[in-house]
Amino acid sequence: MTATASPPKKRTELKNRAVSTTVARVAQRSRARSAPAIYDVIIAGGGPAGSSLAWKLASQGVKVLVLERTKFPREKVCGDFVEPRGLRILGQMGALAALEATSPLPITHSSTWVDDRCEYSNKIPFYGVHDTLLPHGYIVPRHVLDTLLLEIAAKQGAEVHYESYVTGFTWNGSSGRDGVTVEVQSKGTSESWRARAIVGADGVNSVVARTAGLLVNDARHIALSQRAYVTGYASSLGEAAFFFDREFFPGYGWMFPMSGGMANVGVGILKETCQREGIAVPELFRQFFEKLKASHRACRQLKLFKPAIGGIVKTYGSAGPNFFDRGLLIGDAGCFVDPMTGEGITPAMESALLAARVLTDALKDGNLDASALSIYEKGHRDYFGPAMAFTDLCAATLRNPHYWPSWKNAIVRGCRLAQHDRAFAATAGGCFGGIEVQPVGILAEVWKKTAENLIALGPISVAELTRGKITTATAALQEGVGWLTDSWKSVCDDPVWHAIWALEVQGKWLRAVNYMARGGTDPRTQGVLQESRA
Ligand SMILES: Cc1cc2nc3c(=O)[nH]c(=O)nc-3n(C[C@H](O)[C@H](O)[C@H](O)COP(=O)(O)OP(=O)(O)OC[C@H]3O[C@@H](n4cnc5c(N)ncnc54)[C@H](O)[C@@H]3O)c2cc1C
Repeated sequence: MTATASPPKKRTELKNRAVSTTVARVAQRSRARSAPAIYDVIIAGGGPAGSSLAWKLASQGVKVLVLERTKFPREKVCGDFVEPRGLRILGQMGALAALEATSPLPITHSSTWVDDRCEYSNKIPFYGVHDTLLPHGYIVPRHVLDTLLLEIAAKQGAEVHYESYVTGFTWNGSSGRDGVTVEVQSKGTSESWRARAIVGADGVNSVVARTAGLLVNDARHIALSQRAYVTGYASSLGEAAFFFDREFFPGYGWMFPMSGGMANVGVGILKETCQREGIAVPELFRQFFEKLKASHRACRQLKLFKPAIGGIVKTYGSAGPNFFDRGLLIGDAGCFVDPMTGEGITPAMESALLAARVLTDALKDGNLDASALSIYEKGHRDYFGPAMAFTDLCAATLRNPHYWPSWKNAIVRGCRLAQHDRAFAATAGGCFGGIEVQPVGILAEVWKKTAENLIALGPISVAELTRGKITTATAALQEGVGWLTDSWKSVCDDPVWHAIWALEVQGKWLRAVNYMARGGTDPRTQGVLQESRA
C-alpha cells in the first residue's frame, strides 16, 4: 500500500499538501497496527452526525467503521434542545421510545425576554401544524442522546471504536484511487485503518476538515457559549425561555426546562463581538444567571448542578465546500448550525442523511472523486439554503451591536403583537424555534403589520392630539430617528468595519432574495427523502 497525498483540487491546495505530507511522515514513524479490513466508509466522530450516518449506511449494507475520540457516555456542551424535525429522525432510527421511557418534559411553550422583561409567553405557535411532526420538542442531555444513537448504529451493523482519536488521513495511490488510510491514536497506540471513503463528523475542530484543507475559522460565523445544568426550576410547564439583552447582543441567553426541576441554562454570543469588545463569556454567563434568577419567577431558586462549561458553534454562513476526493464533511465539521438559533443537532442528522444518499450511490458507481461527490454540495444547498440563507441574513444584520436600541424596540413590538395575533406569531416566529422558515411569508407578514401600523398612525395621532397627548406620534418619530442615530454611531465608531459589514449584508440579501424568487416550501419541513438511487 502506498500512502500519498492526492492532488487536491480546491482553495487550500498548498495547505492541504503540507498537512498530508506531515501525516504521511507521522504514519511512517508510528507503530502501525494496521488491520487487513478495508471499510467502505470510515466516519470520524460518533456524535449525532456520525451515528446517524453510520446507522443509515449500515442499514444499506455498507461496511462502516466509526472512530470516536471519547468513551461514551460523555458530556457534550449543548442546549440539548431537539426540535420536532430532529425527533422525527430519532423516530426513524428507533430511538424515540427509549428516550421517552426516561419521561422527558415536552417543550410546548416559549417565552421571550427583553432586558429582563417577559414580552411573550405562549404556546409555540408553529408546533403542531404538520401531521408528520410531533407538536413538541425535548431537552435531551447529550450523554443520553449520543450514547443511544451510537448504540443503535452499532446494532444496525456499524463497527464502533471508542477512545480512538483520528489524527489525520492520507490518500492512497494517485488521486486517492486506492482509497484512504486513516491514522488513529487509541489508548497510547498508533493505528491505521483503510477505507474507500472518509467522512468528517468530528465536530467544530474537525481533523478531517483540516487534513482536507477545508477547516473554516471565521469569527463572524462562530458563537461562543457557556452552559450549565441547574436544579430548582419551580414549574412543570415545558416553556423554553429566550433572553435578549444589550450585554449579550448579538446572541441570546436560554433556559430550557427538563423534568425533575432541572434546566439547561446558557448564553451564546458572536465571537467577532467578543473580540471587538473584549467580552469574556464566563463573566457573561455569571451575569446572565443572576439576571435569570432575579427576573424569572420559576427560576428564583436555581442552583448550579455543576459549573458552567464553554463550547462553540460554527454556523452555516461559513459553510464552504464540504466534499473532497474520497470524502465528505457533515454536522458541525461542515458548519451546518442554524445561524440564528444555534441549533445543530437536527441539521447534523439531516446532513448525515443527505451524505448517506450520496455515498451509497458513489460506492455503487465506484466513483468517489471530488467531482462525483460534489453532488452533496448541491444537495445540502438545495435542502438547507432556502431557510438558512434567510437566517444567515438575519444573523448578519444583527451583527452590528450599535443597532441594539432599535432592534430592541422592534423585538418588543413583534413580541407584543405575537402575543395576541397568533397568525402573525405562527409566521414571523418561524425563524425562532425550528420549523418552516418561510422568508417570503415572514417578510410579508412583518411588512403588512408595519404598513398597518403606519396607516393607523395618522388617525391615532390626531385622536391623541385632540386629547392633548402626543405619545404615539412622538414614539414613531423617535423610532425613525433611532435607526439613523444607530447608523451614525456605527459609522463614527469604525467606518471601515461599518462599510464592510453593510456590503456583506447586501450580498446576503441578494443571496436570500435569489432563494426567495424560487418560491416553494422549506424542504426541511418535509425532511430528507430516504431513498438512494436504485
Ligand atoms: C453551548 C451550545 C449549545 C447548543 N445548543 C443546541 C441546542 O439546544 N440544540 C441543538 O440542536 N444544537 C445545539 N448546539 C449545537 C450542537 O451541539 C451541535 O451542532 C451538534 O452537537 C453537532 O453534532 P455533530 O455530531 O456534528 O458534532 P459533535 O456533537 O460535536 O460530535 C462530534 C464527535 O466527534 C468526536 N471527535 C472529535 N474529534 C475527533 C477525532 N479527531 N477523532 C475521533 N472523534 C472525534 C467527539 O468526541 C464527538 O463525540 C449547541 C452547541 C453549543 C456549543
